[in-house]
Amino acid sequence: MKSCSSSIALASSAIVANVWLLRDCDGQRFLIDTGVRTERMALDASLRRAGIRNRGDLNAIFLTHRHCDHAGNAAWLRERFGCPIYCHAEDAQILSGQAAREPLRRGIGSVYDELCCGIEDLTAVRLDVDDAFALGAWKHGFEGFAAFGHTEGSVLLYHRATATLFTGDALLSGVPPLRTHERFSLAIPAYSLDVDQCHDHVRSFLRDHPKVQQLCAGHGPFVGDDVEQKLAAFARSIERVQKPTRAIAGIWGAATWHSGINAVQARLERATETVAETAPQVRAAIERSRALANGLSSRR
Ligand SMILES: [Zn+2]
Repeated sequence: MKSCSSSIALASSAIVANVWLLRDCDGQRFLIDTGVRTERMALDASLRRAGIRNRGDLNAIFLTHRHCDHAGNAAWLRERFGCPIYCHAEDAQILSGQAAREPLRRGIGSVYDELCCGIEDLTAVRLDVDDAFALGAWKHGFEGFAAFGHTEGSVLLYHRATATLFTGDALLSGVPPLRTHERFSLAIPAYSLDVDQCHDHVRSFLRDHPKVQQLCAGHGPFVGDDVEQKLAAFARSIERVQKPTRAIAGIWGAATWHSGINAVQARLERATETVAETAPQVRAAIERSRALANGLSSRR
């Protein structure tokens, strides 16, 4: 990796979701995610402080996914700074209205989650992106890794030259909306269309990923120290949880299946014994009836 005087900044005035400003080795400036519409003025203040004031000050906007707390100000920023908006093709189709938008599932989160899901469904973002990417290496040194399942086109965005990973909502570095405590977690079920799919994508990314020196999540603090070790520990923790759960489920399944078979076998054996026990009695009863019938007929 070539030496690079890049920088990463968080638009700290916007608190609902993280908006990241990356300045790459060539001085190009990219915004990753754009925050929720209601925090537009706060975002503007943060950008001004970072020197983003005029048309041309931003080179592009990348969206990790289409949710309103990440894509909410994209169109407004494009208008203001004259820069293109990029996101994954699956989410681009939904943002533009070419594909149907699936509402979030209800009744699986807290009251707060229900409220946020309601806001997402009511204020879903509509915009035409300027270019859509697939997975793998793309423009400006960014690469997309699948984190599908949070939304249809949710991705982990990796910037190779600066070894920076933008994780959106697929891997959080803190409990929303707090940025004070560092704590990694996978996508939250209430906000994800297919949370298991998203978790599996992140697990497989963590098993084999490019070097990460800075981690910028959609919610939670910036992580810039010992990122590789922290990711490795997190990967182990989510595999540890997963493996025993699967193992227990397997053992439980086998045990219930086995005990089910045993129960059926026991019932069959009991039924066979009952038939065997009652068979002589039935036979004797038939014989008694026959003898009685014979006796009655001989008396006639
Ligand atoms: Zn989201």
